[in-house]
Amino acid sequence: MRALRPVVTGRRILASEIRLPKLVSPMSAALFKRKLKGATITGVSRRGKYILIELNNDRVLAVHLRMTGKFLSLSVGDALPKHAHAIFYLDNDRRLVFCDQRQFGVMRLVSRTRLSKTKGIRELAPEPFADDFSLVYLKETLARSRRTLKTLLLDQTRVLGLGNIYAAEALFRAGVNPFKVAATLSSKRVELLHQAILDVLTEAIADSSTSRVNLEHSNGFSYGEAFERFWQVYEREGEPCIKCGALIRRMVHGGRSTYWCPKCQRR
Ligand SMILES: [Zn+2]
Repeated sequence: MRALRPVVTGRRILASEIRLPKLVSPMSAALFKRKLKGATITGVSRRGKYILIELNNDRVLAVHLRMTGKFLSLSVGDALPKHAHAIFYLDNDRRLVFCDQRQFGVMRLVSRTRLSKTKGIRELAPEPFADDFSLVYLKETLARSRRTLKTLLLDQTRVLGLGNIYAAEALFRAGVNPFKVAATLSSKRVELLHQAILDVLTEAIADSSTSRVNLEHSNGFSYGEAFERFWQVYEREGEPCIKCGALIRRMVHGGRSTYWCPKCQRR
């Protein structure tokens, strides 16, 4: 993001080209291009795994890079790379090119007001460091609940700003079992959990602001691969725990996968 932001902020999109229509579906490529034409990019931010390219026409271009998606900034003279599925012609004679070898990437052009209702974004953390999320608040919330911690943390996404991944990671770092009843968590553990939640979210933010420089393109850049690097239990079923070596377990709980270390996160 640090790499993308200065390259595109303030630039106007003169025209765009969509070579892989499914990238922008369900919107048609024609409508997508029409809505982007002439828009100025006012900023770049991130929500979870979505890169949000903010436009001055009250729309946001939400991009999920998935496995192999990346952006390149090319000058007019540069040859287009392979798998260039979307090309944005900017008003400084440069082109912002989206390449995606495996074609799993997603681009959604949505209005700013509808952004929070967009699938994949609506589930994500709101403001992670809102003052509302204090230790006292967490203690009171947990003390009132007879549900499991995992269920509670996920059900409170609006307040706590946790999604499935963050919840699993925070519980692991705090050494708390996801299936423990919220109200039975000791005061000490609540403190550890509160700190772990803040730590996980801090790392998520730091991770999003570090970008990889793509040396294949002398004046280009790419990023995205770093997104999933810091998960310690999430999607690590059967792999050894980084703290104790026990094998990470997974269970589907409330329709979502829960990952935990049976040793570090005993009940
Ligand atoms: Zn462990």
